[in-house]
Amino acid sequence: MLVDYHIHTAHSTDAKNTLAEYCERALEIGLAQICFTNHCELDKERNDNFIVFNDQRQPIDQKGIERLFNDINRGREQYEQNGLDVRIGIEIGFFPGIERQVDFLTRNIQVDYVLGSIHCLDHICIDSSKEFEYYFADHPAQVMINNYYQAINDLVSCGLFDAVAHLDVYKKYGIDYYGRDITYIPEDLLNLIFKNILVKGVALEVNTAGLRRIGQIYPSGDILNLAKTAGIDRLVIGSDAHCVEDLGKGLNEGYECIRNHGYSEVCTFKNRQPTKIRPAGKVREKPKTVIGNP
Ligand SMILES: [Zn+2]
Ligand SMILES: [Zn+2]
Repeated sequence: MLVDYHIHTAHSTDAKNTLAEYCERALEIGLAQICFTNHCELDKERNDNFIVFNDQRQPIDQKGIERLFNDINRGREQYEQNGLDVRIGIEIGFFPGIERQVDFLTRNIQVDYVLGSIHCLDHICIDSSKEFEYYFADHPAQVMINNYYQAINDLVSCGLFDAVAHLDVYKKYGIDYYGRDITYIPEDLLNLIFKNILVKGVALEVNTAGLRRIGQIYPSGDILNLAKTAGIDRLVIGSDAHCVEDLGKGLNEGYECIRNHGYSEVCTFKNRQPTKIRPAGKVREKPKTVIGNP
């Protein structure tokens, strides 16, 4: 079976398409299970903590998340009858100081999967085309990368997340901005992160959005090698689709990459409990075409 564990619907401010459109597509391309992971950004110093209902932005809060989950629960039943397993997740943007709020929020919602991400450093979104330069301009590559992984270490150490997303996403704009310097790897810090990942039982995400952006999966092979050597045993995989065309995109490469690094299983989550599955088969990336008269 094949799964995609990173998907944004139009409830996220930067995404489009409905749950139904994603579910139809998932069945078409041969996915057995998908998990919706809409954004939950909680930084009051920024202007991106919204959730969208019927094209209307609302501040994200527990009520908004409950409404989002009700929408997903209502929509998913008919697809589960058609053989598509639909899970409810959330992608929370982490920054130091948000721990108690994340703890409270995730205790009070019925959620299958809580994915943690670092999108911002010093309240600046480093994976936004509009913002990354404001941070990069003041920080040489090594400093930026060290700061980023310190934040990742805080994220995995707080024990509030089931998985850590797109581990080297700073490369998205960093490759063009910094050139070769972006390949710097703070090995000691990464090994500390992997140790804490193991202690806290966090899964490491293999995110294929990087293939669409910079021609490589997040994280890159050298970091996955370090993870494997450190004994990381839980992986999750997702396309990070923000539109239905990107659902499942790159997953065939992603699954191959996992196998090439010596892994034979990925995790799924229900009520925040992981279950390992053995991926088999291929995503049918190209949609079915109707063959008519030439
Ligand atoms: Zn993200
Ligand atoms: Zn995402």
